[in-house]
Amino acid sequence: MEQNTQDPEITVSYQKLARKVKEISLYIHIPFCTRKCNYCNFYSITYDAKLAENYIRSLTKEISQYKNKNYALTSIYIGGGTPSLLSFPLLFSLFSGINDTFSISPNIEVTIEANPASITKDASRYWNILGINRVSMGVQSFNDNELKILGRIHSEKDIQPAFEIVRDHCTENISLDLMYGIPVQTHGTLMKSLQRAIELEPKHISSYCLSLEKGTPLFDARAHYTFPSEDIQKEMYYSMLSFLEDNCFHQYEISNFSNKGYESQHNISYWKGKEYIGCGAAAHSFYDMTRKENISDVQRYINNMQNEQSVCKSSKLISKREYISDMIFLGLRMTKGVPLSYLKKELGFDVIIEYSDIIDKYSKLGYLTVENDHLKLTKKALFVSDEILSEFV
Ligand code: SF4
Repeated sequence: MEQNTQDPEITVSYQKLARKVKEISLYIHIPFCTRKCNYCNFYSITYDAKLAENYIRSLTKEISQYKNKNYALTSIYIGGGTPSLLSFPLLFSLFSGINDTFSISPNIEVTIEANPASITKDASRYWNILGINRVSMGVQSFNDNELKILGRIHSEKDIQPAFEIVRDHCTENISLDLMYGIPVQTHGTLMKSLQRAIELEPKHISSYCLSLEKGTPLFDARAHYTFPSEDIQKEMYYSMLSFLEDNCFHQYEISNFSNKGYESQHNISYWKGKEYIGCGAAAHSFYDMTRKENISDVQRYINNMQNEQSVCKSSKLISKREYISDMIFLGLRMTKGVPLSYLKKELGFDVIIEYSDIIDKYSKLGYLTVENDHLKLTKKALFVSDEILSEFV
């Protein structure tokens, strides 16, 4: 194609293209929920329309700080909290801010987290208009008793209609979040939830073990509940793996499963140690070898943005060695494992030599293996992965 040098606008756009762009992911934190779940220790507060409006104004201001830095977004993840509570005008101004600031890669993945209780036809249509092409639904369980213990605002009967609304009006690229290790949950109720989940034909399933966190209502009430023992959790985990594999959900990370081609590109970029920008209260970033964390207080975040003050709580330049250690720690979460030749060629780091003691120890136990030039966890290591991964930090 010939360059039209007569038209100044076209000339400007050619100059823009000529500058080197850097590919990066964007995480946006929306810290509002209808009410707090009993197990939750993420930063979120009760939704308030006026506060949400001020928050989005501040958020777009923070986003605009990345203008003219030549970043091209490969994925956007709107997480929380419950981003599906945001009205269309608020989401519209958020996406306008993003579009004004960044270039957008052609095959960008744009995810929003949604609660089945806050999904409507109108909202799904708006998400589609805004370019959202992936919806992650926080289902957790199809069992009302388990949902009640978790303190979720939705019940089992909300899930299927919400799923169908998203599929029909926004996207078929839907991920369902499930949970195992819930008090009173049995192997049987977990398998029923998995069966119900696959009957909806989502493209992706995440399933994490419930983590009992201090300071949560569930932790305080723990004496009143019977939690599945570690042996039962292990049985649940491996039954889930086989069941999902048998139903065309291939496992690509310790807790993540998808149909082929529907892996979460955003999360894969984290696990590969790629750079990402996090905007909003409590959001984390990693770029230019620097880890950053924003303040975890919505009102302070808004005040600071309005007064042109920093919203950064901490910032740390990491060494090459720390970066490599992160890459191994995160890369081992993926079933493919850590790319050995890549680390040697690009970063001059021989994983097998540098970590020979740890690799020897866990290889002898049958927990680590080298396959296709990748260091990876074996299947039997997946359930006890935390202990092994922490050795590489
Ligand atoms: S919806 Fe998610 S972020 Fe909100 S309280 Fe529940 S678990 Fe926490």
